[in-house]
Amino acid sequence: MEPSSGERTSWSDRLRKVWTGSNRLRLMLTLELAVMLPAAALIYLNFDQLKSMKRDKVLEAAIHRDFQQMLAIAEKQINQKAYTVTEGIRDQFPSPDAEKADKVHKLDWILSEHPELGHVFLFEADRGILMRSQPERMNDPYFFEEHHRLEKQIRGWFTFEAKTMVEALHKRTRRIAWFAEQGKRADGYAYITTAFFPLPRVSKDRLVIGGATFDADYLKEKFFPEMLDALIAYKLGEDGGNPLAMVVYAGDPDGDAGHASKPLAASARWTEGKPEVSRNFADVFTGLTLGIKFQGTSVDALGRSWVERGFLTLGVLSLLLVGGLVLTYRSVSKEVALARLKSDFVSNVSHELRTPLALIRLYAETLELGRIKGQTKVEEYYRIIRTESERLTALINNILDFSRIEAGKKEYDFRQTDLAELVRNTLDTYRAQIDEHGFAFEQSIDSSIPPVQVDREAIARSLVNLVNNSLKYSDTEKFLGVKLYRADGVLKLEVVDHGIGIARNEQAKVFEKFYRAGNLLVHNTKGSGLGLSLVRHIAHAHGGEVEVESTPGKGSKFTLTLPLERAIQQPANDAVRMAG
Ligand code: ADP
Repeated sequence: MEPSSGERTSWSDRLRKVWTGSNRLRLMLTLELAVMLPAAALIYLNFDQLKSMKRDKVLEAAIHRDFQQMLAIAEKQINQKAYTVTEGIRDQFPSPDAEKADKVHKLDWILSEHPELGHVFLFEADRGILMRSQPERMNDPYFFEEHHRLEKQIRGWFTFEAKTMVEALHKRTRRIAWFAEQGKRADGYAYITTAFFPLPRVSKDRLVIGGATFDADYLKEKFFPEMLDALIAYKLGEDGGNPLAMVVYAGDPDGDAGHASKPLAASARWTEGKPEVSRNFADVFTGLTLGIKFQGTSVDALGRSWVERGFLTLGVLSLLLVGGLVLTYRSVSKEVALARLKSDFVSNVSHELRTPLALIRLYAETLELGRIKGQTKVEEYYRIIRTESERLTALINNILDFSRIEAGKKEYDFRQTDLAELVRNTLDTYRAQIDEHGFAFEQSIDSSIPPVQVDREAIARSLVNLVNNSLKYSDTEKFLGVKLYRADGVLKLEVVDHGIGIARNEQAKVFEKFYRAGNLLVHNTKGSGLGLSLVRHIAHAHGGEVEVESTPGKGSKFTLTLPLERAIQQPANDAVRMAG
């Protein structure tokens, strides 16, 4: 059934009331819808992306691809180097037609020129093999054994295969073939590779083959480490990033063969561990594997640290976001509260203005009519008119002061003043009111206080505000005490009452502008909420402070502390602007 129009109106009315009535609710909704939701969605999406990144290992795959490429380039360059060296040696080979002594001489010369070679040989189908080895190495039994083994092996092989071999060599682009094998040295495993080539300037039909064996120690100690370091330096110079480390293994690094765990040669900063990516050498260095990884870290660790850093950044950002939101929320709700206080203030002040004005008018009119009998009555009416106009003046003074302070235009007139006298005089003019309200009054003023630099009017106004509050906020026990004394280089002006007191959580707030405690008596008492904020401003302008000690139901003690000696200075306006 359709709701009646009356019902509809009441519902929409209620809704409108909730909406316009509660600024705080509106603020919360705006913050949540406009800021929190998108921010939360953004953070969630980012976290999700990071999580999936961890799973996909996209970056790691990219690095591995880069490594593969690097290894391919490295192999190519290492091979290139071996070819170039070998081609140089080939050009220096003796002619097969030379005298044997000359051939020996030439081969020995090549060995002395090329310490990287272990052995060189010249094979001729009709003359057999002439093999020379580094002479000073022949004392090493392993090297000596290698010489004989190689000589025998090659002789045996070429005696039957020389023809096929020569043909095959001529078919190759660079006319060099390689044969790699394991050797042996005192410290264990050794790797050697031998280059075979037809000699230049020798007819294709002649079965002549030259050869050179790269020395195991040279490969291990010089050739590979130098090549690897140069490659790494080149790569680092090219695109920076994490420095790399490379290694040359015998065999498959993942296999459990004996040599796998021990690299044959490595770049300078190779640390323990397995390479990230490996590549088996082909052609020149068959049987060896080239490996690469980051220096001192792994792709996995890098990936993890990226993700961690991502999470961290996101976490910090989220915290900042939440912090920002909290701050915004707080400052906006402060503004909202202030706006409410302001509107209360307007109604309070209008009320406070209206009452004395009405009284003044009433009594003035009565007096005007001249119908009052008895001098005491007349005097009472005059007194009421006077005190009411005093109250008005005090209120208007407070408001004027406040607006000056807010505009940053409040100026103080500091003069040498006898504070004891100022306090006494102020209290004297107030005495009648105090008595009239039925207050027990105690005053203790130390007359020996030296003159101090103060703004008389401001200090008197502070005292009046404090005394006025005590009168206003006392119900059953009416006591007022004012004390002026000197303590530790400062002057203290205390105003004590046995009134309603102030709750602990409100004690700091009462010094804020417009603030009035949430007490019933306070609400029934007239006030603007400006008095104490003025007192605080005045105290600060004098380089002093105002504090309150209070127990609800027992009373309050307001203490205005002023420095005894004060450099005269006009406080910077914003430094003493009232905190909102
Ligand atoms: P007003 O008195 O015009 O409200 P004030 O700034 O002087 O403004 O005081 C702020 C609030 O502090 C008062 O509304 C009251 O709640 C509380 N207050 C001030 N002085 C006293 C006091 N002596 N005893 C209890 N409450 C006090």
